[in-house]
Amino acid sequence: MADIVLDKVSKKFPDGTVAVADVDLEIADGEFVILVGPSGCGKSTTLNMIAGLEDISSGELRIGGARVNDKAPRDRDIAMVFQSYALYPNMTVRENMAFPLRLAKMDKETITRKVEEAAKVLELTALLDRKPANLSGGQRQRVAMGRAIVRQPKAFLMDEPLSNLDAKLRVQMRTVVSRLQKKLGTTTVYVTHDQTEAMTLGDRVVIMRGGAVQQVGPPQELYDHPRNLFVAGFIGSPSMNFLHAAVEDGKLRTALGDVPIGERIRRELEGADAPRELILGIRPEHFEDAALVDDDTRRRGMEFEAPVDIVESMGSDKYVYFSVEGERASAAELEELAADAGADFSGGGANLVTRLSAESPVEEGQSRRVWCNLEKIHLFDPSNGRNLT
Ligand code: ATP
Repeated sequence: MADIVLDKVSKKFPDGTVAVADVDLEIADGEFVILVGPSGCGKSTTLNMIAGLEDISSGELRIGGARVNDKAPRDRDIAMVFQSYALYPNMTVRENMAFPLRLAKMDKETITRKVEEAAKVLELTALLDRKPANLSGGQRQRVAMGRAIVRQPKAFLMDEPLSNLDAKLRVQMRTVVSRLQKKLGTTTVYVTHDQTEAMTLGDRVVIMRGGAVQQVGPPQELYDHPRNLFVAGFIGSPSMNFLHAAVEDGKLRTALGDVPIGERIRRELEGADAPRELILGIRPEHFEDAALVDDDTRRRGMEFEAPVDIVESMGSDKYVYFSVEGERASAAELEELAADAGADFSGGGANLVTRLSAESPVEEGQSRRVWCNLEKIHLFDPSNGRNLT
């Protein structure tokens, strides 16, 4: 068993910075877990504590059931892959991959066998006698992975392993990593700040912010049911639109028009200290050109008309930015929350991003009727960012 358990793990640096605060996380044996979040959220520090490269200030870390807080990195039986490949330039691919096994004083035959097995998995067999200088970036990164897998460690820890590669190679390497992890079935913790990588690679995604875990779940669950404004804005590209919504006469007054309030939300809004204004969140892909939806679909949503600012044609669909009129949110921190999440806050007259079918005949400068799927909206309490839907 090589499960990894973080039990209220914190990291406070000597200068007082709390990089990681009370993180609870249970990673199952064989699971592929992604740590994702904006720069400085504590994901690398978390990984480094699992690796033993950083001390744990408080809490307990267990690997395979055993407490490892005070164990040296080399005694944890895990392998790390970093962003920089750190290959030995004077050694061949074969020698680079054999290096950790030679350190472990394995016999020659076993080393040869293990290196060749790993090379096969990573399609490096033809390159075994080359030096790193004569390899492409993607091939070098595969050698770095090869060096990690030859040891058959209990777990792999990867810190932004693909971020030095160009966009196309990154996509290719994503499938390499994914296939490799499935084939080996080794517990893997993978750090990235790229939400697309997080969504496509892992069994589960851990979203961090300010040293704390915001939400843990399978990618689809985070997309469908973000727990708060931050997660909602972080997952999805382009980001979810956030609009100010005032609660009035059993309806929500928004820049898109009046939105009816469902029974469950109505109950949330009962009581003296219930919020009188909410943040309405709707993803770009949950809009459509109103002329392209059938009657059945139309009933599940609402329509509004707005002037088209910018049209970006993506081939398969179009990103269309509309100007919408709206009241500014009363609380400044709402904007901050959304901005933190990298999201647009459509408070007053700001852009609304929609993703419409390629067939939509929208034109910049003209007005267009747009349909919005009400079954997909999210409502957030602005005081704490909690998703009420
Ligand atoms: P990035 O994506 O930019 O690498 P990250 O999410 O991996 O960010 P960490 O590197 O874990 O973030 O850093 C978390 C926080 O701890 C940051 O605020 C960082 O400035 C701080 N920090 C990191 N190392 C130290 C250190 N040695 N001393 C003090 N503060 C540190």
